[in-house]
Amino acid sequence: MTLHFPNMAEPAGRTLGDEEVAALERVIRSGMLNSVWGTEARALEREVAELYGSRHAIACASGTAALHLSVVAAAPDPGDEIITTPITDFGTVAPILAQNAVPVFADVDPSDGNLDPDAVAALIGPRTRAIMVVHLFGAPARAGELRRLADRHGLALIEDCAQAWLTELPDGRYAGTAGHVGTLSLQQWKHITCGDGGLALTDDDELARRMRLFADKGWDRAAGRSHESLGLNYRMTELQAAVARAQLAKLPEVVEARRRTAGQLIEALRALEPHDVHLGLPRPDGHAWWLFPLVLPNGDAPELAAHLSAAGIPARAGYLKEPLNRAPLWDAPVYGSSRYPLEDYRPAPCPEAERLVATTLLIIDWNEHYTSEHVKVITEAVAGYLGRP
Ligand SMILES: *Cc1c(COP(=O)(O)O)cnc(C)c1O
Repeated sequence: MTLHFPNMAEPAGRTLGDEEVAALERVIRSGMLNSVWGTEARALEREVAELYGSRHAIACASGTAALHLSVVAAAPDPGDEIITTPITDFGTVAPILAQNAVPVFADVDPSDGNLDPDAVAALIGPRTRAIMVVHLFGAPARAGELRRLADRHGLALIEDCAQAWLTELPDGRYAGTAGHVGTLSLQQWKHITCGDGGLALTDDDELARRMRLFADKGWDRAAGRSHESLGLNYRMTELQAAVARAQLAKLPEVVEARRRTAGQLIEALRALEPHDVHLGLPRPDGHAWWLFPLVLPNGDAPELAAHLSAAGIPARAGYLKEPLNRAPLWDAPVYGSSRYPLEDYRPAPCPEAERLVATTLLIIDWNEHYTSEHVKVITEAVAGYLGRP
């Protein structure tokens, strides 16, 4: 009998229970489901701000919405450039286009797929307005270095922590607090969930004000029915917020459990390395283990992924079909028949990102409900692959 690997689309792979049911009932019985007049979203903001030691947390409809708010806060003029990574969810890039700015893709560190600060520095030009860094799979990206780079050039640094709840930077701070704005996601597949939802963190009062206005139709509620600036409706509902608060209380245990079993797998795989195959094990420091990545420099990722899948292990090669600098989108119109602001734009090659996605990167879905049994099954399957004739 093959061992079942719990996943985030089923009850056995989530931490949703009586606390979330009670939270929903509390909101429904209150008669107020909208966060403009309710109390849950404001309470969630206070709790997340306190956890992260941030002055402001702004709850919104999704991680993508939080990223859109962060780009609004950075205030690019149309045609300005924002430097980001080609290995991420499209939610990082869509808000750049939505603000009529131009995404510029910098290449990544081949050891973990996170932005390479030297590659970012080489792309900074007169139109650069911001840098968006992603803590990929929960591994800390080099946000401290990027913050110094951003400060030197007068740029905003945005940290996308959708996959990185409680990821720690080398100085001990949480990822999301090194930049001018940090963003989080509560979508179904993240560490904690309310189906969809997001938060933007900042210490800056002016950036917080811009983000709050954009999330609520440019409407300063204290000033009457008057609209100060362009905004959409990106509000989180009280139902989402109540579930998110119950989930937030469980977050430390979720991350701790993921760290425990990921640490066990690293130890077990390290013991296999004398097989002369370099497995490219992830560095555990500060990692929040949204997924467990391996980098196989010999290009074996698709083969090993197929071998692990055949053994019932949720493993895939590449993470994306193609890195975002190679997406079909760059040859298509952006608005109607217009390619504005991308008229002459074609993303530059990112050879390290392209190699990771095509041949060297392997990911194993990770989960707080894995046990040492799951670690053993994965280790045996990898050992079987390495020892194959
Ligand atoms: C999930 C994700 C997003 C988008 O978040 P949604 O809540 O799904 O909109 C953005 N960036 C990264 C890195 C993600 O993993």
